[in-house]
Amino acid sequence: MVILYELLPINIQCDGAEKMLTQDRPPPIFLGDDTALDFLNSVAVPRATEFEWLESGPDLLDWLVASGLCSEDELCHLRKDAFTADIEQAARDIREFRDSFRAFIQTVSGHPNLLAEHQMIGTINSLLGSGAQYIQIDQAPDISAQAKPLILTSKHQLQSALDLLPRIAAACAYLICNADFRYVRNCEGSGCTMYFQDVSKNHRRRWCSMDVCGNRAKAAAHRKHKKR
Ligand SMILES: [Zn+2]
Repeated sequence: MVILYELLPINIQCDGAEKMLTQDRPPPIFLGDDTALDFLNSVAVPRATEFEWLESGPDLLDWLVASGLCSEDELCHLRKDAFTADIEQAARDIREFRDSFRAFIQTVSGHPNLLAEHQMIGTINSLLGSGAQYIQIDQAPDISAQAKPLILTSKHQLQSALDLLPRIAAACAYLICNADFRYVRNCEGSGCTMYFQDVSKNHRRRWCSMDVCGNRAKAAAHRKHKKR
């Protein structure tokens, strides 16, 4: 169950300092059942208010750790003042990439097959080919949908802020190669922008979460029924 408006979490950074993730936002939302879809949902309108979790460079680093895409140890050197301008630029580039990826997901969601010549796949392949990489046995991002909980992954080393986008692109590539896009859906909630991969047995998931959109839709249907 996803609770969006719980107490704000404390993020313990590599220098031991405690930092509030945010003063005026709920914690980031991870209900996409896929890391790349959670990346899309890093800007969302859960209850009539838009929240942007990648607003600044430090926001981006916090989100990458919260999502599990990077460990604090891997990117703590990027929190130093010398990298401030670089991570701000990375956040801008990543928000721009997110817009393109959203357009791509809007096009392909609900369809069974993807074509390799799609422009977005070319963009992702270019990003995957950049930077220094290493291979590692890792936990599958979505254990529930996997026969095997372990997968072989290729990771980009996080030497500079430029390496952050390829790390995200790798999560997008994993979705493209492993998801059944018939079950990648936009929440049916009115005005809700959130996407999820429906990994339920009957593939009947309709909402980002019952807590946000499901109960609102139920209440609206109930009011409509009473008016009759
Ligand atoms: Zn929703």
